[in-house]
Amino acid sequence: MILLDGKKISNQIKDEISQEVTVLKQQGKRTPHLAAVLVGNDGASLTYVGSKVKACERVGFTSSLIHLPENTTEESLLLKIDELNNDDTLDGFIVQLPLPKHIDEQKILLAVNPKKDVDGFHPENFGRMALDMESYIPATPFGIMEMLKRYRVETSGKHTVVIGRSHIVGRPMSILMSQKGIDSTVTLTHSRTKNLAEITRQADIIIIALGKPEFLTGDMVKKGVTVIDVGITRVPDNTKAKGYTIKGDVDFDSVSRKADFLTPVPGGVGPMTIAMLLKNTLIARQRQLKENRE
Ligand code: NAP
Repeated sequence: MILLDGKKISNQIKDEISQEVTVLKQQGKRTPHLAAVLVGNDGASLTYVGSKVKACERVGFTSSLIHLPENTTEESLLLKIDELNNDDTLDGFIVQLPLPKHIDEQKILLAVNPKKDVDGFHPENFGRMALDMESYIPATPFGIMEMLKRYRVETSGKHTVVIGRSHIVGRPMSILMSQKGIDSTVTLTHSRTKNLAEITRQADIIIIALGKPEFLTGDMVKKGVTVIDVGITRVPDNTKAKGYTIKGDVDFDSVSRKADFLTPVPGGVGPMTIAMLLKNTLIARQRQLKENRE
């Protein structure tokens, strides 16, 4: 069994991005600039945004953190987004989710300029992705595709079963895996799927994103399967200083006895997500340079 080492691959990608930044600097061009908007003080969101800022520093990007109070109104957040949309020194920005309950998330995501939507959450980018047009692919699915590519996991003609149909992972994965050039035959499953284990046992590749710790067990997979575990759940654990352990959606022990390729949690899909957000920001900068013929 080969572990798909997201930590290692994400570091390679960050090194490649750093090299591109060095080239931009040598050419006297502005380096990529990513901003993150955070509303409120949700613990997990603060951690995620902190890691994104740190990752920017690691590759030589400029980063800005726009930290707004919990009671920020929808109107003032929309004004802030308008400002970022029109800031020529900024290549991309993300609005960290979840937003406080009084703010309509969909309205906010729709307000982001699709050209700066490095999270790939705007419907324009999602539609363009589905139509094989130039777009920004959401960072987690983009990271999974990159990991499969770099480990040379065969996808053509294989049966890929995606578990979970969220807009940020499952649904885009089902589209990407069926694209020309990737050529998987895809089954997208969800909470209403009947006889899930019968379906997963037929899978050559399983991508699981549901958020239920150790849901996928060895008896649900066939020998030689590739399993991508997207799940991240904090499970209370008094033996840990933080008071919790991170668990994936896969029962690692039983599945690792049958799988050919498997992602660990942590250290699998998670680190890839941040690397691909950086990659999208670099792509945004490169597209801007091309458009302005700089
Ligand atoms: P989500 O919005 O929480 O949706 C979960 C999906 O799982 C839904 O489509 C749901 O079906 C399906 N589901 C629930 N129970 C099921 C069952 N018994 N059998 C089959 N399908 C079932 O999903 P998400 O936002 O994609 O998050 C999923 C997990 O991935 C979470 O643990 C999250 O923290 C993690 N995640 C990790 C990263 C990363 O960077 N590693 C990024 C994003 C998310 P219905 O649609 O029918 O309700």
